Amino acid sequence: EPALILFRHDLRLSDNLALCAAARSGLPLVAVYIEDLTEGVRPLGAAARWWRARSLRKLQNALSGSGLRLICRKGPLCDVVGSHIAQIGAGAVFMNRRFEPAADAADVRLIEQLARTNVVAERHEGQLLHDPHQLRTTSGGFYNVFTPFWRALASQGDFADPADAPDHVQAHEHDLETDPDGLLDYAPAWATAFGEIWEPGESGAQVRLNEFLEGRGNGYTNGRDRMAEEATSRLSPHLAHGEITPRQIMAALGDAAIPANDLETFRREIGWREFCWHLLANNKDLAQANFNKSFNGFPWRDDAMALKNWQEGRTGYPLVDAAMRHLWETGWMHNRARMVVASFLVKHLGLHWREGERWFWDTLVDADAANNPANWQWVAGTGADAAPFFRVFNPTLQSRKFDQNGDYIRSYVPELSDISGKQIHDPSAELRGKTGYPRPIVEHTQARDSALAAYRSIR
Ligand code: FAD
Repeated sequence: EPALILFRHDLRLSDNLALCAAARSGLPLVAVYIEDLTEGVRPLGAAARWWRARSLRKLQNALSGSGLRLICRKGPLCDVVGSHIAQIGAGAVFMNRRFEPAADAADVRLIEQLARTNVVAERHEGQLLHDPHQLRTTSGGFYNVFTPFWRALASQGDFADPADAPDHVQAHEHDLETDPDGLLDYAPAWATAFGEIWEPGESGAQVRLNEFLEGRGNGYTNGRDRMAEEATSRLSPHLAHGEITPRQIMAALGDAAIPANDLETFRREIGWREFCWHLLANNKDLAQANFNKSFNGFPWRDDAMALKNWQEGRTGYPLVDAAMRHLWETGWMHNRARMVVASFLVKHLGLHWREGERWFWDTLVDADAANNPANWQWVAGTGADAAPFFRVFNPTLQSRKFDQNGDYIRSYVPELSDISGKQIHDPSAELRGKTGYPRPIVEHTQARDSALAAYRSIR
Protein backbone atom coordinates (compact mmCIF):
# COMPACT_ATOMS: atom_id res chain seq x y z
CA GLU A 1 0.00 0.00 0.00
CA PRO A 2 1.34 3.48 -0.80
CA ALA A 3 1.58 6.33 1.72
CA LEU A 4 1.00 10.08 1.42
CA ILE A 5 3.66 12.55 2.47
CA LEU A 6 2.04 15.94 3.04
CA PHE A 7 3.74 19.30 2.59
CA ARG A 8 2.26 22.50 4.02
CA HIS A 9 4.50 25.05 5.76
CA ASP A 10 7.55 22.81 5.34
CA LEU A 11 8.83 23.20 1.79
CA ARG A 12 12.15 21.40 2.30
CA LEU A 13 13.79 17.99 2.19
CA SER A 14 16.40 18.39 4.94
CA ASP A 15 15.39 18.33 8.61
CA ASN A 16 11.96 17.21 7.48
CA LEU A 17 11.14 14.53 10.04
CA ALA A 18 7.86 13.55 8.38
CA LEU A 19 9.71 12.89 5.14
CA CYS A 20 12.45 10.96 7.00
CA ALA A 21 9.81 8.78 8.68
CA ALA A 22 8.00 8.24 5.39
CA ALA A 23 11.28 7.20 3.75
CA ARG A 24 12.13 4.86 6.64
CA SER A 25 8.72 3.19 6.36
CA GLY A 26 9.85 1.76 3.02
CA LEU A 27 6.34 2.39 1.63
CA PRO A 28 6.02 3.77 -1.90
CA LEU A 29 5.19 7.47 -1.54
CA VAL A 30 2.94 10.06 -3.12
CA ALA A 31 3.90 13.67 -2.26
CA VAL A 32 1.11 16.24 -1.96
CA TYR A 33 1.34 19.93 -1.12
CA ILE A 34 -1.95 21.22 0.29
CA GLU A 35 -3.08 24.82 0.62
CA ASP A 36 -5.48 24.22 3.45
CA LEU A 37 -8.78 26.03 2.97
CA THR A 38 -10.29 24.68 6.19
CA GLU A 39 -12.43 27.38 7.75
CA GLY A 40 -10.45 29.39 10.30
CA VAL A 41 -7.04 28.61 8.79
CA ARG A 42 -5.67 31.94 7.60
CA PRO A 43 -5.46 32.08 3.78
CA LEU A 44 -2.03 33.17 2.48
CA GLY A 45 -1.60 36.76 1.36
CA ALA A 46 -0.60 37.71 -2.18
CA ALA A 47 3.16 38.23 -1.67
CA ALA A 48 3.44 34.94 0.22
CA ARG A 49 1.65 33.22 -2.67
CA TRP A 50 4.24 34.63 -5.05
CA TRP A 51 6.95 33.11 -2.88
CA ARG A 52 5.15 29.82 -2.48
CA ALA A 53 4.69 29.28 -6.21
CA ARG A 54 8.47 29.49 -6.70
CA SER A 55 9.29 27.48 -3.63
CA LEU A 56 6.93 24.71 -4.77
CA ARG A 57 8.71 24.53 -8.10
CA LYS A 58 12.04 24.14 -6.31
CA LEU A 59 10.59 21.46 -4.08
CA GLN A 60 9.14 19.73 -7.09
CA ASN A 61 12.58 19.66 -8.73
CA ALA A 62 14.26 18.40 -5.58
CA LEU A 63 11.69 15.63 -5.15
CA SER A 64 11.90 14.60 -8.77
CA GLY A 65 15.49 13.54 -8.04
CA SER A 66 13.93 10.72 -6.04
CA GLY A 67 11.33 10.03 -8.70
CA LEU A 68 8.56 11.75 -6.70
CA ARG A 69 6.17 14.04 -8.55
CA LEU A 70 4.78 16.71 -6.21
CA ILE A 71 1.02 17.13 -6.51
CA CYS A 72 -0.17 20.66 -5.60
CA ARG A 73 -3.73 21.07 -4.40
CA LYS A 74 -5.94 23.46 -2.51
CA GLY A 75 -9.03 22.70 -0.48
CA PRO A 76 -10.05 21.79 3.04
CA LEU A 77 -7.38 19.42 4.38
CA CYS A 78 -9.70 16.53 5.28
CA ASP A 79 -11.38 16.61 1.84
CA VAL A 80 -8.14 16.77 -0.15
CA VAL A 81 -6.46 14.00 1.81
CA GLY A 82 -9.66 11.93 1.81
CA SER A 83 -10.00 12.10 -1.96
CA HIS A 84 -6.33 11.27 -2.57
CA ILE A 85 -6.53 8.29 -0.27
CA ALA A 86 -9.58 7.08 -2.15
CA GLN A 87 -7.83 7.55 -5.50
CA ILE A 88 -4.57 5.83 -4.70
CA GLY A 89 -5.62 3.55 -1.86
CA ALA A 90 -3.04 4.89 0.60
CA GLY A 91 -2.69 3.18 3.98
CA ALA A 92 -0.58 5.79 5.78
CA VAL A 93 -0.12 9.57 5.94
CA PHE A 94 2.99 11.41 7.15
CA MET A 95 2.98 15.11 8.04
CA ASN A 96 4.73 17.74 10.15
CA ARG A 97 2.85 19.49 12.94
CA ARG A 98 1.37 22.93 12.40
CA PHE A 99 0.86 25.31 15.32
CA GLU A 100 -1.66 27.85 14.05
CA PRO A 101 -4.55 26.72 16.30
CA ALA A 102 -7.11 26.24 13.47
CA ALA A 103 -4.55 24.32 11.39
CA ASP A 104 -3.57 22.19 14.36
CA ALA A 105 -7.26 21.41 14.98
CA ALA A 106 -7.71 20.49 11.29
CA ASP A 107 -4.76 18.08 11.56
CA VAL A 108 -6.27 16.47 14.65
CA ARG A 109 -9.63 16.04 12.86
CA LEU A 110 -7.83 14.52 9.89
CA ILE A 111 -6.04 12.01 12.10
CA GLU A 112 -9.37 11.02 13.69
CA GLN A 113 -10.98 10.69 10.28
CA LEU A 114 -8.12 8.49 9.06
CA ALA A 115 -8.20 6.32 12.17
CA ARG A 116 -11.85 5.44 11.45
CA THR A 117 -10.76 3.89 8.15
CA ASN A 118 -7.62 2.30 9.61
CA VAL A 119 -5.24 4.64 7.82
CA VAL A 120 -2.18 5.25 9.98
CA ALA A 121 -1.20 8.91 10.48
CA GLU A 122 2.04 10.26 11.93
CA ARG A 123 2.85 13.85 12.92
CA HIS A 124 6.40 15.10 13.38
CA GLU A 125 8.08 18.21 14.77
CA GLY A 126 10.27 20.78 13.06
CA GLN A 127 8.66 24.18 12.75
CA LEU A 128 9.62 25.16 16.30
CA LEU A 129 12.37 24.46 18.80
CA HIS A 130 9.93 23.35 21.48
CA ASP A 131 6.32 22.21 21.74
CA PRO A 132 4.34 25.36 22.65
CA HIS A 133 1.85 23.30 24.62
CA GLN A 134 4.56 21.80 26.81
CA LEU A 135 6.68 24.78 27.87
CA ARG A 136 4.94 26.01 31.01
CA THR A 137 5.56 28.50 33.82
CA THR A 138 5.59 27.25 37.43
CA SER A 139 1.91 28.19 37.70
CA GLY A 140 1.11 26.09 34.65
CA GLY A 141 0.42 28.80 32.07
CA PHE A 142 2.25 29.72 28.89
CA TYR A 143 4.96 32.37 29.04
CA ASN A 144 3.84 35.87 28.12
CA VAL A 145 7.10 37.62 29.02
CA PHE A 146 10.05 37.06 26.72
CA THR A 147 13.05 36.95 29.09
CA PRO A 148 11.76 34.19 31.40
CA PHE A 149 10.48 32.37 28.31
CA TRP A 150 13.93 32.47 26.74
CA ARG A 151 15.56 31.34 29.99
CA ALA A 152 13.10 28.46 30.31
CA LEU A 153 13.75 27.41 26.73
CA ALA A 154 17.52 27.47 27.27
CA SER A 155 17.15 25.37 30.43
CA GLN A 156 15.60 22.54 28.39
CA GLY A 157 19.09 21.56 27.24
CA ASP A 158 20.50 21.46 23.73
CA PHE A 159 18.07 21.51 20.83
CA ALA A 160 17.84 18.32 18.82
CA ASP A 161 20.28 17.99 15.92
CA PRO A 162 18.72 18.60 12.53
CA ALA A 163 18.14 15.55 10.34
CA ASP A 164 19.64 15.09 6.89
CA ALA A 165 17.41 14.67 3.86
CA PRO A 166 16.62 10.98 3.34
CA ASP A 167 19.06 9.19 1.00
CA HIS A 168 16.38 7.26 -0.71
CA VAL A 169 12.61 7.29 -1.02
CA GLN A 170 10.47 4.95 -2.99
CA ALA A 171 7.99 6.59 -5.35
CA HIS A 172 4.51 5.24 -6.05
CA GLU A 173 3.42 5.38 -9.69
CA HIS A 174 0.21 7.31 -10.23
CA ASP A 175 -1.53 9.46 -12.79
CA LEU A 176 -2.75 12.31 -10.58
CA GLU A 177 -2.64 15.73 -12.19
CA THR A 178 0.28 17.85 -10.93
CA ASP A 179 -1.23 21.32 -10.48
CA PRO A 180 -4.94 21.32 -11.26
CA ASP A 181 -5.56 24.36 -9.02
CA GLY A 182 -2.84 26.48 -10.66
CA LEU A 183 -0.75 27.13 -7.53
CA LEU A 184 2.53 27.10 -9.44
CA ASP A 185 1.87 29.94 -11.83
CA TYR A 186 1.04 32.81 -9.51
CA ALA A 187 2.82 35.91 -10.83
CA PRO A 188 1.01 39.18 -10.02
CA ALA A 189 2.25 42.16 -12.04
CA TRP A 190 3.24 44.24 -9.03
CA ALA A 191 5.67 41.55 -7.86
CA THR A 192 7.86 41.47 -10.95
CA ALA A 193 10.92 42.85 -9.13
CA PHE A 194 10.74 40.30 -6.31
CA GLY A 195 12.61 37.73 -8.38
CA GLU A 196 15.68 39.97 -8.58
CA ILE A 197 16.06 39.99 -4.82
CA TRP A 198 14.83 36.65 -3.61
CA GLU A 199 15.63 33.06 -4.28
CA PRO A 200 12.76 31.09 -2.79
CA GLY A 201 13.41 27.47 -1.88
CA GLU A 202 15.60 25.37 0.35
CA SER A 203 18.86 26.06 -1.48
CA GLY A 204 18.20 29.82 -1.37
CA ALA A 205 17.70 29.53 2.40
CA GLN A 206 21.06 27.80 2.79
CA VAL A 207 22.74 30.53 0.71
CA ARG A 208 21.30 33.24 3.00
CA LEU A 209 22.34 31.33 6.10
CA ASN A 210 25.90 30.85 4.85
CA GLU A 211 26.23 34.49 3.81
CA PHE A 212 25.20 35.47 7.30
CA LEU A 213 27.53 33.06 9.03
CA GLU A 214 30.44 33.86 6.77
CA GLY A 215 30.43 37.59 7.21
CA ARG A 216 27.18 39.49 7.30
CA GLY A 217 26.54 38.43 10.90
CA ASN A 218 29.71 40.17 11.98
CA GLY A 219 28.49 43.29 13.80
CA TYR A 220 24.85 42.17 13.73
CA THR A 221 24.12 43.59 17.21
CA ASN A 222 24.41 47.19 16.03
CA GLY A 223 24.22 46.69 12.29
CA ARG A 224 20.73 45.23 12.51
CA ASP A 225 19.32 48.68 13.20
CA ARG A 226 20.87 50.44 10.23
CA MET A 227 18.27 50.31 7.52
CA ALA A 228 20.43 51.12 4.51
CA GLU A 229 22.70 48.13 5.18
CA GLU A 230 22.09 44.48 4.53
CA ALA A 231 23.20 43.53 8.02
CA THR A 232 20.49 41.02 8.88
CA SER A 233 20.07 37.45 7.66
CA ARG A 234 16.93 37.89 5.48
CA LEU A 235 16.00 34.38 6.48
CA SER A 236 12.44 35.39 7.43
CA PRO A 237 10.63 34.32 4.23
CA HIS A 238 12.56 31.06 4.19
CA LEU A 239 11.52 30.39 7.78
CA ALA A 240 7.92 31.42 7.08
CA HIS A 241 7.64 28.87 4.29
CA GLY A 242 9.50 26.18 6.19
CA GLU A 243 12.45 26.02 3.80
CA ILE A 244 14.77 25.99 6.79
CA THR A 245 14.14 25.10 10.42
CA PRO A 246 15.17 26.94 13.59
CA ARG A 247 16.94 23.70 14.60
CA GLN A 248 19.13 23.94 11.49
CA ILE A 249 19.90 27.60 12.21
CA MET A 250 20.76 26.97 15.85
CA ALA A 251 23.02 24.06 14.91
CA ALA A 252 24.81 26.10 12.22
CA LEU A 253 25.43 28.97 14.68
CA GLY A 254 27.51 26.58 16.79
CA ASP A 255 30.24 26.59 14.11
CA ALA A 256 29.96 30.22 13.03
CA ALA A 257 33.02 32.46 13.02
CA ILE A 258 31.20 35.59 14.16
CA PRO A 259 31.63 37.35 17.52
CA ALA A 260 29.87 35.79 20.50
CA ASN A 261 27.75 38.86 21.28
CA ASP A 262 26.44 39.00 17.70
CA LEU A 263 25.62 35.30 17.83
CA GLU A 264 23.77 35.80 21.10
CA THR A 265 21.72 38.72 19.72
CA PHE A 266 20.82 36.65 16.68
CA ARG A 267 19.86 33.62 18.78
CA ARG A 268 17.51 35.85 20.77
CA GLU A 269 15.78 36.91 17.54
CA ILE A 270 15.17 33.28 16.68
CA GLY A 271 13.92 33.15 20.27
CA TRP A 272 11.44 35.97 19.54
CA ARG A 273 10.06 33.99 16.63
CA GLU A 274 9.62 31.03 18.95
CA PHE A 275 7.98 33.27 21.57
CA CYS A 276 5.49 34.64 19.01
CA TRP A 277 4.59 31.10 17.95
CA HIS A 278 4.07 30.01 21.55
CA LEU A 279 1.77 33.01 21.98
CA LEU A 280 -0.25 32.12 18.87
CA ALA A 281 -0.46 28.42 19.73
CA ASN A 282 -1.98 29.41 23.05
CA ASN A 283 -4.16 32.32 21.77
CA LYS A 284 -6.08 31.50 18.67
CA ASP A 285 -7.37 35.03 18.12
CA LEU A 286 -3.95 36.74 18.33
CA ALA A 287 -4.52 38.35 14.89
CA GLN A 288 -8.01 39.60 15.76
CA ALA A 289 -8.20 40.56 19.42
CA ASN A 290 -6.11 42.67 21.77
CA PHE A 291 -3.95 40.35 23.84
CA ASN A 292 -4.22 42.95 26.61
CA LYS A 293 -7.99 43.27 27.04
CA SER A 294 -7.72 46.64 28.76
CA PHE A 295 -7.35 48.08 25.23
CA ASN A 296 -10.76 46.78 24.14
CA GLY A 297 -12.45 50.17 24.56
CA PHE A 298 -9.66 52.10 22.79
CA PRO A 299 -11.09 54.85 20.54
CA TRP A 300 -9.40 53.84 17.24
CA ARG A 301 -10.12 56.15 14.38
CA ASP A 302 -11.68 55.15 11.11
CA ASP A 303 -9.95 56.98 8.24
CA ALA A 304 -9.72 55.25 4.86
CA MET A 305 -7.73 58.11 3.33
CA ALA A 306 -5.05 58.04 6.03
CA LEU A 307 -4.81 54.27 5.68
CA LYS A 308 -4.36 54.55 1.93
CA ASN A 309 -1.66 57.23 2.28
CA TRP A 310 0.19 54.99 4.71
CA GLN A 311 -0.14 51.92 2.46
CA GLU A 312 1.10 53.80 -0.59
CA GLY A 313 3.93 55.63 1.19
CA ARG A 314 2.51 59.16 0.94
CA THR A 315 2.49 60.27 4.57
CA GLY A 316 5.04 63.06 4.06
CA TYR A 317 7.43 61.41 6.55
CA PRO A 318 10.38 60.30 4.39
CA LEU A 319 11.37 57.27 6.48
CA VAL A 320 7.79 55.99 6.72
CA ASP A 321 7.26 56.46 3.00
CA ALA A 322 10.59 54.85 2.06
CA ALA A 323 9.73 51.83 4.20
CA MET A 324 6.19 51.42 2.82
CA ARG A 325 7.44 51.67 -0.78
CA HIS A 326 10.30 49.28 0.05
CA LEU A 327 7.66 46.78 1.20
CA TRP A 328 5.60 47.20 -1.95
CA GLU A 329 8.62 46.86 -4.26
CA THR A 330 10.37 43.96 -2.58
CA GLY A 331 7.84 42.16 -0.37
CA TRP A 332 10.02 42.80 2.67
CA MET A 333 10.90 45.53 5.14
CA HIS A 334 13.68 46.04 7.64
CA ASN A 335 12.71 45.32 11.28
CA ARG A 336 13.46 48.84 12.53
CA ALA A 337 11.38 50.27 9.67
CA ARG A 338 8.53 47.86 10.53
CA MET A 339 8.53 49.23 14.06
CA VAL A 340 8.48 52.83 12.85
CA VAL A 341 5.69 52.42 10.28
CA ALA A 342 3.61 50.32 12.67
CA SER A 343 3.94 52.90 15.42
CA PHE A 344 3.05 55.61 12.89
CA LEU A 345 -0.15 53.82 11.81
CA VAL A 346 -1.31 53.13 15.33
CA LYS A 347 -0.15 56.23 17.17
CA HIS A 348 0.19 59.06 14.63
CA LEU A 349 -2.81 58.04 12.54
CA GLY A 350 -4.81 56.48 15.39
CA LEU A 351 -5.82 53.49 13.23
CA HIS A 352 -6.38 50.00 14.61
CA TRP A 353 -3.26 47.78 14.55
CA ARG A 354 -5.37 45.17 12.73
CA GLU A 355 -5.48 47.38 9.63
CA GLY A 356 -1.70 47.43 9.44
CA GLU A 357 -1.42 43.77 10.29
CA ARG A 358 -3.70 42.90 7.35
CA TRP A 359 -1.73 45.04 4.92
CA PHE A 360 1.53 43.42 6.02
CA TRP A 361 -0.09 39.99 5.76
CA ASP A 362 -0.93 40.63 2.13
CA THR A 363 2.31 42.33 1.07
CA LEU A 364 5.13 40.59 2.99
CA VAL A 365 6.81 37.57 1.44
CA ASP A 366 7.60 36.54 5.03
CA ALA A 367 4.03 37.07 6.30
CA ASP A 368 3.93 34.85 9.33
CA ALA A 369 0.77 33.87 11.21
CA ALA A 370 2.48 34.37 14.59
CA ASN A 371 5.24 36.97 14.07
CA ASN A 372 3.01 39.42 12.27
CA PRO A 373 0.15 39.83 14.76
CA ALA A 374 2.44 39.42 17.79
CA ASN A 375 4.73 42.20 16.57
CA TRP A 376 1.87 44.49 15.59
CA GLN A 377 0.43 44.04 19.05
CA TRP A 378 3.88 44.57 20.54
CA VAL A 379 4.24 47.95 18.81
CA ALA A 380 0.62 48.95 19.53
CA GLY A 381 1.16 48.27 23.21
CA THR A 382 -1.74 45.79 23.25
CA GLY A 383 0.46 42.68 23.12
CA ALA A 384 2.31 40.32 25.41
CA ASP A 385 5.45 41.86 26.95
CA ALA A 386 4.71 44.85 24.69
CA ALA A 387 6.31 48.25 24.31
CA PRO A 388 4.30 50.68 26.49
CA PHE A 389 1.70 52.60 24.48
CA PHE A 390 3.12 55.96 25.52
CA ARG A 391 6.42 55.19 23.76
CA VAL A 392 5.68 56.95 20.46
CA PHE A 393 8.43 56.71 17.86
CA ASN A 394 9.38 60.02 16.31
CA PRO A 395 9.86 59.03 12.64
CA THR A 396 12.17 61.96 11.92
CA LEU A 397 14.49 61.17 14.85
CA GLN A 398 14.45 57.46 13.95
CA SER A 399 15.50 58.42 10.46
CA ARG A 400 18.34 60.70 11.66
CA LYS A 401 19.57 57.95 13.96
CA PHE A 402 19.24 54.78 11.89
CA ASP A 403 19.49 56.15 8.35
CA GLN A 404 22.00 58.88 9.12
CA ASN A 405 22.99 59.68 5.54
CA GLY A 406 19.49 59.19 4.19
CA ASP A 407 20.61 56.40 1.86
CA TYR A 408 17.61 54.21 2.69
CA ILE A 409 15.22 57.08 1.98
CA ARG A 410 16.94 57.96 -1.30
CA SER A 411 16.69 54.34 -2.47
CA TYR A 412 12.92 54.20 -2.19
CA VAL A 413 11.62 57.77 -2.47
CA PRO A 414 12.61 58.97 -5.95
CA GLU A 415 11.25 62.49 -5.31
CA LEU A 416 14.03 62.89 -2.74
CA SER A 417 16.79 61.03 -4.53
CA ASP A 418 18.73 64.23 -5.33
CA ILE A 419 18.49 65.72 -1.85
CA SER A 420 21.71 65.67 0.11
CA GLY A 421 22.43 66.59 3.72
CA LYS A 422 20.09 66.64 6.71
CA GLN A 423 17.11 67.99 4.73
CA ILE A 424 16.44 64.45 3.56
CA HIS A 425 14.94 63.55 6.95
CA ASP A 426 12.47 66.42 6.97
CA PRO A 427 12.44 68.43 3.75
CA SER A 428 11.33 72.07 3.90
CA ALA A 429 7.94 73.11 2.51
CA GLU A 430 9.78 74.73 -0.39
CA LEU A 431 11.66 71.54 -1.25
CA ARG A 432 8.49 69.52 -1.02
CA GLY A 433 6.85 71.93 -3.39
CA LYS A 434 9.73 71.68 -5.85
CA THR A 435 10.09 67.90 -5.79
CA GLY A 436 6.41 67.00 -5.52
CA TYR A 437 7.05 65.15 -2.26
CA PRO A 438 3.89 65.37 -0.08
CA ARG A 439 3.50 67.52 3.02
CA PRO A 440 3.16 65.63 6.34
CA ILE A 441 -0.40 64.30 6.67
CA VAL A 442 -0.23 64.79 10.44
CA GLU A 443 1.96 66.96 12.62
CA HIS A 444 4.15 64.93 14.99
CA THR A 445 3.55 66.73 18.30
CA GLN A 446 -0.19 67.05 17.74
CA ALA A 447 -0.48 63.42 16.68
CA ARG A 448 1.48 62.31 19.72
CA ASP A 449 -0.74 64.36 22.04
CA SER A 450 -3.93 62.92 20.53
CA ALA A 451 -2.56 59.38 20.88
CA LEU A 452 -1.74 59.94 24.53
CA ALA A 453 -5.17 61.52 25.14
CA ALA A 454 -6.86 58.48 23.55
CA TYR A 455 -4.76 56.25 25.78
CA ARG A 456 -5.71 58.20 28.91
CA SER A 457 -9.39 57.73 28.02
CA ILE A 458 -9.17 53.96 28.59
CA ARG A 459 -7.11 54.09 31.77
P1 FAD B 1 17.10 38.81 11.31
O1 FAD B 1 17.41 40.03 12.10
O2 FAD B 1 18.19 38.20 10.55
O3 FAD B 1 16.50 37.75 12.35
C1 FAD B 1 16.54 36.35 12.13
C2 FAD B 1 15.16 35.76 12.33
O4 FAD B 1 14.71 35.97 13.65
C3 FAD B 1 14.11 36.35 11.43
O5 FAD B 1 14.15 35.77 10.15
C4 FAD B 1 12.85 36.01 12.20
O6 FAD B 1 12.45 34.68 11.97
C5 FAD B 1 13.29 36.14 13.63
N1 FAD B 1 12.95 37.48 14.14
C6 FAD B 1 13.68 38.61 14.07
N2 FAD B 1 13.03 39.63 14.67
C7 FAD B 1 11.86 39.12 15.11
C8 FAD B 1 10.75 39.67 15.82
N3 FAD B 1 10.69 40.94 16.18
N4 FAD B 1 9.71 38.84 16.08
C9 FAD B 1 9.72 37.55 15.72
N5 FAD B 1 10.74 36.98 15.07
C10 FAD B 1 11.80 37.75 14.77
N6 FAD B 1 8.65 38.65 10.97
C11 FAD B 1 8.22 37.66 10.17
O7 FAD B 1 8.93 36.68 9.97
N7 FAD B 1 6.98 37.71 9.59
C12 FAD B 1 6.14 38.76 9.79
O8 FAD B 1 5.02 38.74 9.26
C13 FAD B 1 6.58 39.83 10.60
N8 FAD B 1 5.80 40.92 10.81
C14 FAD B 1 6.28 41.95 11.58
C15 FAD B 1 5.46 43.06 11.82
C16 FAD B 1 5.90 44.13 12.60
C17 FAD B 1 5.00 45.31 12.84
C18 FAD B 1 7.19 44.07 13.15
C19 FAD B 1 7.70 45.22 14.02
C20 FAD B 1 8.00 42.97 12.97
C21 FAD B 1 7.55 41.89 12.19
N9 FAD B 1 8.36 40.75 11.97
C22 FAD B 1 7.89 39.74 11.20
C23 FAD B 1 9.63 40.58 12.70
C24 FAD B 1 10.91 41.08 12.00
O9 FAD B 1 10.74 42.38 11.53
C25 FAD B 1 11.34 40.18 10.84
O10 FAD B 1 11.36 38.83 11.25
C26 FAD B 1 12.73 40.55 10.35
O11 FAD B 1 12.79 41.89 9.96
C27 FAD B 1 13.12 39.64 9.21
O12 FAD B 1 14.35 39.98 8.67
P2 FAD B 1 15.62 39.02 8.85
O13 FAD B 1 15.25 37.62 8.53
O14 FAD B 1 16.73 39.63 8.10
O15 FAD B 1 15.86 39.14 10.41
